[in-house]
Order: sequence, then structure tokens, then C-alpha cells
Amino acid sequence: MFEPTIDFIRSVFDTDQFIPLHEPKFIGREKEYLNDCIDSTFVSYVGKYVTQFEEMIRDISGAEHAVATVNGTVALHMAMIVAGVERGDEVITQPLTFVATCNAISYAGASPVFVDVDRQTLGMSPDSLEAFLEKHVVRKDDGFCYDQSSGKRIGGCMPMHTFGHPVVIDQIAEICSRYGITLIEDSAESLGSKYKEKATGTFGKVGVYSFNGNKTVTCGGGGVIITDDEAWAQRAKHITTTAKVPHPWEYVHDEIGYNYRLPNINAAVACAQLEHLDAYIDNKRDLAGLYTEFFKGQGISFVEEPAHCYANYWLNAVILENREQRDQFLRQTNDAGVMTRPAWTLMNKLDMFKTTTPHDLSQAEWLEDRLVNIPSSVRL
Ligand SMILES: *Cc1c(COP(=O)(O)O)cnc(C)c1O
Repeated sequence: MFEPTIDFIRSVFDTDQFIPLHEPKFIGREKEYLNDCIDSTFVSYVGKYVTQFEEMIRDISGAEHAVATVNGTVALHMAMIVAGVERGDEVITQPLTFVATCNAISYAGASPVFVDVDRQTLGMSPDSLEAFLEKHVVRKDDGFCYDQSSGKRIGGCMPMHTFGHPVVIDQIAEICSRYGITLIEDSAESLGSKYKEKATGTFGKVGVYSFNGNKTVTCGGGGVIITDDEAWAQRAKHITTTAKVPHPWEYVHDEIGYNYRLPNINAAVACAQLEHLDAYIDNKRDLAGLYTEFFKGQGISFVEEPAHCYANYWLNAVILENREQRDQFLRQTNDAGVMTRPAWTLMNKLDMFKTTTPHDLSQAEWLEDRLVNIPSSVRL
């Protein structure tokens, strides 16, 4: 039944070999920078590539500050800490996300509370967020909102830009500011994506990008925190480097810190990759254009960038009729050596994040039954 799709994907990637979902591409100066980094002996987290990487991220995002970390998950953890999320808080997020979003909330001692997503963006629904806040939250004299059913403070709100498609982030930001809730963006998947000409990750007080091996660009493992707040950036840098107080020789640490700083050797690869970010995204957008045209003729719904958005099209996705057809699609494509994957199991269904107060998550459930990622590698 899905032979035309399999044939089309094979023709687009021009191979009869196995086609992965997303493979990294190293076509630039990666080896040159790596050699230079090794020759310099500055392979750990002091070195010019870390600094250069942070500069490039500031340039690309337009954020005032960038702090490099060993991966995107710990960048999220640090974002929670600088945002003042505390043990016992709740952080509002979406059920359709990668587990790292909720893990990071947990590392900060908080627990996730879920509001629904929109079908158009695959990410947090502003209406669902507003409805949750209206119905379930009271604002107390300390200025913070509290969840009436759990009694817990709302420490933040963290939408995620699914597969690189921006959520309706200006509306979410407006709602958060009205309720005095700190907005933290999990923009791990959306490096280079824009909402109304502005980079995802820069609408919240703090945002993060990931440079894991399967992301749009990679340095093996890596992450970055972006913010316009200088004090937050300084604190992020301080606690990611064991909270050591600067001194010519004494080892004094003024709080419990972390060893979360990105090594120079990874940053060297990241710099080389970022030099090609625009070319990669153009290439991915071309591929998305080809998929759009093809799936129109197949009666299969292809996920296109939401209105007012420029998406990096990190992972392309289709929406099948129902779970049965989804499973058929997954079976046929994977059997044919064309890698496809379903959406993540919803976070509220995982044992560790199951919540006692179920909210309406029907759109996330609808998508979970139908969404499939298809091969999305850069073809360069
Ligand atoms: C990849 C990803 C992360 C974490 O990034 P790592 O660098 O793999 O730790 C966090 N959130 C989302 C939504 C992601 O896709």
C-alpha cells in the first residue's frame, strides 16, 4: 500500500541502501578544527572554540548571551535553575515531547504538568494553557501562581518546538507574562527556526538548543543556553563550571555546581557545523518541499510549517488516518529499509510522569496515534 512512498523516498535519497531517519553530515572544516584543537592541547572546557561557538550562537539567535553545555538535557536543567525553578514546583509543559524535557524538570526537583498541543504546530496550545491557568491556578500575594489541586507553585512554563516547527510562541509568552510565569523554551530541535522573523528560543527568559548526533547540526553531544539576561548567563556559566570562584590558585566553590561545560573539542566540531547551518536548512526545506508535493498526490497529510513561521524542518512528519494505518506504514517502510519512527509515547503515560489530575490532552492523543517521522537527512 505504501510502495509509492517507499519508492519516492528512495529516489529522493538516490540509494537502494538503508535510509536512516537523520544522519549527521560533516562536509566542512570539522577535521581541520579538531586537529587544531588537539594541537593546541586545550581540549577541555577552556579554549577558543567554546568562545567562538557561543559567539556564533548569539549571532544566529540574536540572543545577548549564550552558555555552552555538554548536551541539551543539562542545558534545560540549568535553564530551570537560573529561572528559579525549585524543588516541589510544577512546570507546565506539553505531553508530546522527547523525554529530556520532563527529565530536566525532574532534575530541578519539580514535576511536569501537562497542557494539550495544537494539531497545526504539534506544540503547546495557547488556548489549552490559558484554560488550565483559568481553571486550576490561583495567584497568591507572593506573585506566584499555585496549582489548586496539588497546592504546588508553578515554577515555569516550557513549550517545545516539535521537530523544528515553532509553537504560537507570542501568544504563549503573552499568557505567561499576564500570569507572572517564567517562560523557558525547549528549542532543542529548532535551531534556525523563526516565529515572525524572530528565532525560537528568544521569546522566553531562557531557551536552549541541542547539538546531539541526530539534530540539524551536531558536535557529537552538546547544548547551549541562550538568554538576554546577563545575570542569568553569568550564573549559568558559573554553575556549569563547578561554581568555582575565580582565583589564581585557590579552589573555592560557593555553591553546589556541575561539570556541565562543553569541551573545546566538541565546540571545534560545532563551529565547523554552524558554518553550514544555512545551507543545511535550505537543503532540508527543499526536501520538505518535495515531500509536500508528493504527499498531496497520495492523500497522506504532510506536516508543513505553521503560519508566520520559518521552520528548520529538522524531522519531516506525516499524519496517517489512524493508529492501524500508522502501524502499517511503520511496518512496511521499516521492512523496506526506509527508517521511519512513531511520535514519542506521551509523557503523561510514562510511569514517572503520570499525573493524578488528568487534563484534556485529546489533541496530543490524536497525534500520538497518527504521527510518523520520515527520513530527513541533509542531502549534501
Ligand atoms: C534532543 C532534545 C533534547 C535534549 O538534547 P540532548 O542534547 O540530546 O541532551 C531536549 N529536548 C528535546 C525536545 C529534544 O529533542
